[in-house]
Amino acid sequence: MEAKQETIFRSRLPDIYIPNHLSLHSYCFENISKFSHQPCLIDGATGREYTYADVELMSRKVGSALHKNGINKGDVIMILLPNSSEYVFSFLGASYIGAISTMANPFFTSAEIIKQVKASNAKIIITQSVHIPKVKDFALKNAIKLVCIDSDNCNSEKCMHFSELLSGDESELPKVDIDSNDVVALPYSSGTTGLPKGVMLTHKGLVTSVAQQVDGENPNLWIHSEDVLMCVLPLFHIYSLNSILLCGLRAGAAILIMQKFDIVPFLELIQKYKVTIGPFVPPIVLAIAKNEEVVDKYDLSSIRTVMSGAAPLGKELEDTVRSKFPNAKLGQGYGMTEAGPVLAMCLAFAKEPFEIKSGACGTVVRNAAMKIVDPETNASLPRNQRGEICIRGDQIMKGYLNDPEATKRTIVDGWLHTGDIGYIDDDDELFIVDRLKELIKYKGFQVAPAELEALLLTHPEISDAAVVPMIDEGAGEVPVAFVVKSNGSNVTEAEIKQFVSKQVVFYKRINRVFFVDKIPKSPSGKILRKDLRAKLAAGVPN
Ligand code: AMP
Repeated sequence: MEAKQETIFRSRLPDIYIPNHLSLHSYCFENISKFSHQPCLIDGATGREYTYADVELMSRKVGSALHKNGINKGDVIMILLPNSSEYVFSFLGASYIGAISTMANPFFTSAEIIKQVKASNAKIIITQSVHIPKVKDFALKNAIKLVCIDSDNCNSEKCMHFSELLSGDESELPKVDIDSNDVVALPYSSGTTGLPKGVMLTHKGLVTSVAQQVDGENPNLWIHSEDVLMCVLPLFHIYSLNSILLCGLRAGAAILIMQKFDIVPFLELIQKYKVTIGPFVPPIVLAIAKNEEVVDKYDLSSIRTVMSGAAPLGKELEDTVRSKFPNAKLGQGYGMTEAGPVLAMCLAFAKEPFEIKSGACGTVVRNAAMKIVDPETNASLPRNQRGEICIRGDQIMKGYLNDPEATKRTIVDGWLHTGDIGYIDDDDELFIVDRLKELIKYKGFQVAPAELEALLLTHPEISDAAVVPMIDEGAGEVPVAFVVKSNGSNVTEAEIKQFVSKQVVFYKRINRVFFVDKIPKSPSGKILRKDLRAKLAAGVPN
């Protein structure tokens, strides 16, 4: 029988040499001698700067101190912090000793954090004093060490101050044998279905992903050592960790750290530090477009690259915001945590840029292969046909932690299935048009319907529930619930919303509740989410 022909898409840029035998920290600092005295991290709030030499030294000290505190190769530390220099030292410090960082949103509720601590088996939690009460009891009971970055009176048996880690002796940094297939980062993602799972990203995977973006003569994302990168997206999301922090470090750029997005300080910092590269998400782009009066007061002419990713960016918005950045190339990147995360990037960011179309989310990165498959038959589809986007390459995850079944469903014959629907046009540009998977994206943050459904089912007056996304101008999408009440119940929409909001971080709050008699399900019991989404698309149900 004749072998089935597959249509494989590749970058329009040539493949490059990728030194992915190196550990992540060695790779990031490989060229440090060229820029060791240049600024590496700038704290936007305080103006404090660390050079590359400082960051390397601090990270080694933290690595050494973590080891002294019982963290060994393969152990997991949890970083529960907003963007900060301590975040960077902790992540790199752990990498030096072959340990793994799992990152969580510091605004998670106690239950959400503890779930991740348990699942990842984290041995230490590095956080701020305001978050200590959420983890203290659990940590004490389970001999998990707490480290606090901001409170001077937390030095006790129960909580160590971060300065202790910073005073580690770098000469005692243990020599660990790191294999490139060892895991270095463990973000959590629900992937195409179910509950959040630990995504095992290896040294090799992250080195490959960063190299795909910034290495070589004509990189996909051209960053050089004179650049200033705005780091306002949270480092607990892989987009910021990889495409801002790690790419910035590799390129020798200055990384301007901002803890949270606020339009005025954001514009002030861009002007003050002459930011050149703005990796953003659609809600930030929307805020820039909507606040014309404020935005026009600032000089944003230093910006030469504006990249939007993590969620869809509408063509109109893309065109509107273009005028705000007179000297910038504007385009999208497409990522997914499990893919390491970057799958595609706009070639207008290359050193020798290509013409691109609005609405496209880039061209597949170098040293990788992409295909589009029919979601029913898995057959590879030609150009201009819509299907599920799949990617193959050294950058993709090793698998889900302790979940071989979910791993097998997601990576088939080396191809990572994204659960996104798109097509590739005649110019190799990728367009995302729909999402096959359950995932809801609120301002780029993940909301897993399965997690909210499980929570709703714990309510005594709910007999069945399904959660789906509803389009929202500000957030992109918000979660809404279809709920079947228990017999005789008079539970109200407000009560259900309150029940959920007490137990989850703000972006997982249910926006609307629709009471129904029955949740549509397939014969095998799967929620027919498509039907519910169609119901919403036809107009909000009464
Ligand atoms: P995460 O793992 O949190 O990065 O979420 C990954 C998902 O975000 C992807 O599978 C897409 O559904 C969505 N996404 C990321 N980037 C884009 C983009 N540029 N356009 C549309 N959707 C995107």
